[in-house]
Amino acid sequence: MVSKTELLPWLAQPLAQALSQGRSHALLLQGPAGVGQLELALQLARAWLCEAPRPQAATQPEPACGHCPSCHLLDAGSHPDFMLLVPDALREQLGLEGEGDGEAEPKGGKASKAKPSREIKVEAVRQMLAFAQTSAARGRAKVVVIHPAEALNTVAANALLKTLEEPAGLLRFALSCSAPEQLLPTIRSRCQPIALHLPPRELALQWLHQQGVGADADEAAVLLDATGGRPQEALRWSEDGVAAQSWKELPRRVARGEAAALSDWPVPRAISALQRLVNDLLRLEHGAPPAFFPREALPTRRLVRDALLQWEGQLRQHARHAEHPLNAGLLLESLVAQGRQAMRPAR
Ligand SMILES: [Zn+2]
Repeated sequence: MVSKTELLPWLAQPLAQALSQGRSHALLLQGPAGVGQLELALQLARAWLCEAPRPQAATQPEPACGHCPSCHLLDAGSHPDFMLLVPDALREQLGLEGEGDGEAEPKGGKASKAKPSREIKVEAVRQMLAFAQTSAARGRAKVVVIHPAEALNTVAANALLKTLEEPAGLLRFALSCSAPEQLLPTIRSRCQPIALHLPPRELALQWLHQQGVGADADEAAVLLDATGGRPQEALRWSEDGVAAQSWKELPRRVARGEAAALSDWPVPRAISALQRLVNDLLRLEHGAPPAFFPREALPTRRLVRDALLQWEGQLRQHARHAEHPLNAGLLLESLVAQGRQAMRPAR
């Protein structure tokens, strides 16, 4: 289950760094989304809670053993000294329903129809504060993982501040974050930052192959580029049925004004795909190689930069409200129509 995550190969180094250099009781793991912040936070929690005897001589803290009672309790999702705070929307994605408390939201028929929240609400933080008050059941540490910290709404973040600054006893925090600018400065200043980076391409591709993405090398590589080098996002796309071929066809279909090219996608992903397209088109206009699409998928003729910039502006504006479009179909049609205009060759 979630606590039994295997260590993603590119996290070994940051994990060692966080364990050896993490002096604060609150670490903020920050880097681009989709490179494993949650996994790193969970591995840190495992290591902090692990009860395996360590050799006296060991100067460096080590990752968790995987065999001690604490490691087993985490694997079973029932460690009394561990708490994970995630938005309900993510809880579902992680397969966490029925685990933990989850009392903040009513369960059952009607409630399950409501859209699960993308925020971490103050009720969840209050539960955590109650958890923080008790002493460690197994006497080693108490660990709270908050993922992602930018999902804390303002009330929830404020409720957290005091405990984050002066945690009682053996309490430690691992917060993850991919948008530090969205965090309250008062949260940021109470944490020691640990930087995460995009994984090396070869390592990411190897991992994607191990996950069964793409029989041929091209499939994984195209999806990895399409997601800006984020292997976990590439895997999610692949699991959602996004094929490399349809990604490669996207520029031509948008140029023809075919909104249907995006109709199967959630709106935020569709808008971000168009943003990546216009980004690549602008890169080409500046003589730079594209970042997200293979070169051969993009038009060969010069385009009008002003039209591209205008389209880019429209996309940026709509990206802000992408979670709740009034009419997803109409919105995508209009954005693709603008794209078609912008992708007309310069005369
Ligand atoms: Zn252990």
